[in-house]
Amino acid sequence: MIRVTENLRKIRDLLAISAVEAERDPETVRLLAVTKKQPLDKILAAASMGQRDFGENTVQEGVDKILAATESGLTWHFIGHLQSNKTRAVAENFDWVHSIDKLKVAKRLSQQRPTSLPPLNVCLQVNIDEEPGKSGISIDEAPELAAACMELSQIRLRGLMCLPRIRQEFADQRRPFARLRQLADALRDMGIDTDTLSMGMSADFRAAIFEGATIVRIGTAIFGERT
Ligand SMILES: *Cc1c(COP(=O)(O)O)cnc(C)c1O
Repeated sequence: MIRVTENLRKIRDLLAISAVEAERDPETVRLLAVTKKQPLDKILAAASMGQRDFGENTVQEGVDKILAATESGLTWHFIGHLQSNKTRAVAENFDWVHSIDKLKVAKRLSQQRPTSLPPLNVCLQVNIDEEPGKSGISIDEAPELAAACMELSQIRLRGLMCLPRIRQEFADQRRPFARLRQLADALRDMGIDTDTLSMGMSADFRAAIFEGATIVRIGTAIFGERT
């Protein structure tokens, strides 16, 4: 547990340093702690240090943890692939979904989001490297899906998310993140204004911050290898 505390402190420092290097306000980069396949006690250890945003990538495991983590004021993000027959539990329990890649899923989430809750925050997942078999829409599909999501009352389109393929060099890591940022700029020019770029993980968050990430999703670097 000491390790989670130390790691979280270290990551916070690194995020702030990266932001300053990128001439950005560190407050504009939000840390999403990815807890998939990690035990509840590690989540609670991070929460006790003030960590508020947590990410899960499967419905059942995520909902179980949301119900078990009684600490108040936590924000839960669904970041995995979402099948349309599993939307209800997500609409009822999560605060964000980063992985919208079909209008059908967005519509169901909006319909199933309880009106007693604020609209569900969503990002469109973009298959930024156009990798075959990988989740996400193409850049070309983004304007139409984004416009359609704007019409749904119980979801709120916050921005774009990507999961690029692994690259070693900093300059190479920046390229897909730059493309996602440019796509958000293009949507803005079309009147679709968003405030979120969900990009960067343990291995490439610095490059993502240089390209404007507002949420970085970090698991291993905080919680260690997944069991
Ligand atoms: C697992 C996961 C992460 C975190 O990855 P790490 O390399 O452990 O930091 C981020 N985003 C998504 C979508 C994930 O599934």
